[in-house]
Amino acid sequence: MTTTDIQHYENQRNLGSYRSTEWMSLGNCRLVEPDIFFPSDGAGVDKARKICSTCPVRDHCLEYALSEQIEHGVWGGMSERARRRLKSQRRAA
Ligand code: SF4
Repeated sequence: MTTTDIQHYENQRNLGSYRSTEWMSLGNCRLVEPDIFFPSDGAGVDKARKICSTCPVRDHCLEYALSEQIEHGVWGGMSERARRRLKSQRRAA
């Protein structure tokens, strides 16, 4: 990813345009089986989260999942449960 790419996505983020899906083509998950991000147990969640941990569009992914109310799978390095907890914390803040 170039500095221009990063600036472009930062600009999108600042504009709150999480509904755009351009960032998806830069995600680490493009290189692995999609099923990894829909794990059935904690070990699977950890495996997905590890891939997300170095993803250059992690923040975009997480905010997209939250804004689109995606309930299943690991997005932005967070499981369904972790996203529900984050949404709850944000509502309470
Ligand atoms: S944060 Fe994870 S699920 Fe989201 S784009 Fe990156 S690798 Fe894919």
